[in-house]
Amino acid sequence: MSAIGFVNGTFMPLEQATVSVEDRGYQFGDGVYEVIRTYRGVPFQVEAHLARLARSAQAIGLSMPYPNREWHDLVAEGLKRAGFAEGKVYIQLTRGVAPREQAFPDESRPTVVMTVRELQPRPQAVCDAGVEAITLDDIRWGRCDIKSVNLLPNVLARQRAKEAGVFEAIFVLDGVVTEGSISNVLVVRHGIVATAPEGARILSGVTRSLVLDLARKERLPVEERAVSLEELRHADEVFLCGTTVEVLPVVRIDGRVVGTGKPGPLTGRLSERFKQAVT
Ligand code: PLP
Repeated sequence: MSAIGFVNGTFMPLEQATVSVEDRGYQFGDGVYEVIRTYRGVPFQVEAHLARLARSAQAIGLSMPYPNREWHDLVAEGLKRAGFAEGKVYIQLTRGVAPREQAFPDESRPTVVMTVRELQPRPQAVCDAGVEAITLDDIRWGRCDIKSVNLLPNVLARQRAKEAGVFEAIFVLDGVVTEGSISNVLVVRHGIVATAPEGARILSGVTRSLVLDLARKERLPVEERAVSLEELRHADEVFLCGTTVEVLPVVRIDGRVVGTGKPGPLTGRLSERFKQAVT
């Protein structure tokens, strides 16, 4: 088993995968990406990820280089070559290689990169205990719905979280919670699950969508609306969700205890439902 790379139609060991320094992804962050989690060798929610990739690509004027059927085959081939049961597939599309000039080149061929790596599942003890988070000003651009490779604000936020010794940085814009640096944020108060609505300020998480569906199936009231920092601080429960994050309770924010300081019952229920969904 070994990590696999794929560049413009060719599979290779990951360490041999390279792109040009003139690639616009490298020069300008002119590209979009997806991350797909695999469980027991099977990729999860591939269609939803491909649909979002197509939306992100279209939003920046890129066309999808392959039809979905071919993407499925490529992902399957990458997974077969890598052989990992628990893994993550990273797909990146950029506007390709061209002399450095911001405006789109007259001619370019998208660079298509895929990597398949092993993923160490999070220890159950971490999920059982919950994690800590900090809040930070959301300094990102106005199209966070595009899964762009421009991740500098997220990189800086993750570094702040790391230095603070916590798992996630939660972005707050004008007193309103948007999302985490790698996750969507959901709060529970008086039995109601609330989270930021889809739109330009958040990434429409594939996991968010699944979790909200699961909550509705559990007959829990769901509100997709602006959630204030105050509400976050006074929530009964807070949890994160994302492809690699899955469903993860937050028990402390900015050093203050959330709810009872332990993962809450609704988070536990949704986490169980999520686990059933992936199996
Ligand atoms: N929000 C941000 C900023 C993210 O980077 C991610 C995942 O990487 C998410 C939300 C969760 O999205 P998904 O559930 O599709 O992985």
